[in-house]
Amino acid sequence: MLDITKIRSEYPILNRTVEGRQLIYLDNAATSLAPSRVVDAIDQMYHCHKANVHRGVHTLSQEATDMVEATRERVRRHINAHAVEEVIFTRGTTESINLVASSIGDMLEHDDEIILTVMEHHSNIVPWQLIGRRKRIRIRVVPIDDSGCLDLEAYDDLFSDNTRFVALAHVSNVLGTVNPVKQMIEIAHRHDVPVLVDGAQAAPHLALDMQDLDCDFYALSSHKMYGPTGVGVLYGKRQWLEKMPPYQGGGEMIGHVAFDKTTFAELPFKFEAGTPDYVGIAALSQAIDYIEELGIDNIAAHEHELLQAMTRGLLEIDGTRIYGTAPDKGAVVSFLVRDINSYDMGLLLDKLGIAVRTGHHCAQPLMDRYGVTGMVRASLAVYNTLDEVEAFLAAVRRVAAMF
Ligand SMILES: *Cc1c(COP(=O)(O)O)cnc(C)c1O
Repeated sequence: MLDITKIRSEYPILNRTVEGRQLIYLDNAATSLAPSRVVDAIDQMYHCHKANVHRGVHTLSQEATDMVEATRERVRRHINAHAVEEVIFTRGTTESINLVASSIGDMLEHDDEIILTVMEHHSNIVPWQLIGRRKRIRIRVVPIDDSGCLDLEAYDDLFSDNTRFVALAHVSNVLGTVNPVKQMIEIAHRHDVPVLVDGAQAAPHLALDMQDLDCDFYALSSHKMYGPTGVGVLYGKRQWLEKMPPYQGGGEMIGHVAFDKTTFAELPFKFEAGTPDYVGIAALSQAIDYIEELGIDNIAAHEHELLQAMTRGLLEIDGTRIYGTAPDKGAVVSFLVRDINSYDMGLLLDKLGIAVRTGHHCAQPLMDRYGVTGMVRASLAVYNTLDEVEAFLAAVRRVAAMF
């Protein structure tokens, strides 16, 4: 099993104090902390390799280019994509989804339909609405049951002759539900409809296998998986990426530019306009090494143990409701205690040194579904401990007693 004490020693930030107490960081679903090796990789890039990629013949530029392309291969292997041309670097999940919505959106027509789910993050709703407004496309929404599981029958029924695209979360950032994406992709493909999977919450906790999932697109963010902020990945099947028009224009993404006609670069560069965050990309490689060395299954098993302790403990507190009780669930617990406002709970927990997320979690349609305006969310990562969970539970009890 994992040596959590040793793991924690790679996170100096865990030693800092908040309100005079040692920080307990339970906001990992918003962003995870980064281990020293990731921070060191950023340092190393700035100190020794800083040069723009793909542009220069000089040594430093070559080194930076090699680093970016090595990370692309690193990502390809990690997600088991078929080819490096299918791995596009973006600024994060949000940009990955906007890229697909905007580019695929160009290929859609009036009255076409897109299927989303009620548990989507705003970044997998609003880009589709923007394109929907331009093209008058309808959005259909897969409902959930009270435990936070998608209604697969309703999903199947939503397909019509006009359905052109499905976009859904692999793991919900609020409910923690691990959606049966493989099965849902199969259903969509039976209707000849491509699928984008929002993997922002899956990437830090689950093994990713693009060829097994057979999804058409997959989006993830480095900063939620122990990596640096500012970098994301879009996986796309080559057959789609080749058909799709570029998303942004600029340097790097062109073949030849003239005022009467510009041709575009080959994949993946067609979708990578401008200077990429090559520093962050190099550091992402370290984050992936880190996850693989610890073993994603070991990480998930540790988190699951904490999740169970946290769930049990919260349910013992009078008047606590947990939102999201799916049998297959990731390392987040969203809850409310009686009618205590989530913001008040979050503020008071912070006074006790505990970082949780409060509010709508960028999922307002889901808040509406449950008839609340916000929830408190505690989310776990590999460096969290049972002691921290106990301290968190004691703090929630203490806050609950104040009201
Ligand atoms: C965080 C998150 C996003 C957005 O990711 P960014 O890194 O902010 O672009 C999208 N979907 C889900 C499920 C998320 O948790």
